[in-house]
Amino acid sequence: MKLTYTGVKGSGIKGGKRAVTTEPGFRNGRGQVVVGSTGARSTSRAGQVIYRMRCSFCGLEYGANGIDVHGRCCPGCQGGETGEPLRETEQARLF
Ligand SMILES: [Zn+2]
Repeated sequence: MKLTYTGVKGSGIKGGKRAVTTEPGFRNGRGQVVVGSTGARSTSRAGQVIYRMRCSFCGLEYGANGIDVHGRCCPGCQGGETGEPLRETEQARLF
């Protein structure tokens, strides 16, 4: 009689965690940190929302499309694009 061990139960692969690059506090590979969504729509890309980014080197804050957050360079000290205008929509949410 031979016992066959199936060993490790399969389906142990649960790599379904999405890499969320637009969550506040996310820091991309260039030291650019997501401050949060401004809620404003992108002026250059349909369906995109502008996020407020802050450079961890020079402290500059600027706007970036959600899809650009991951590879964004600082416009101030890394030669990145100027990016999207930051509109102070946060004030509208205060009350
Ligand atoms: Zn910078």
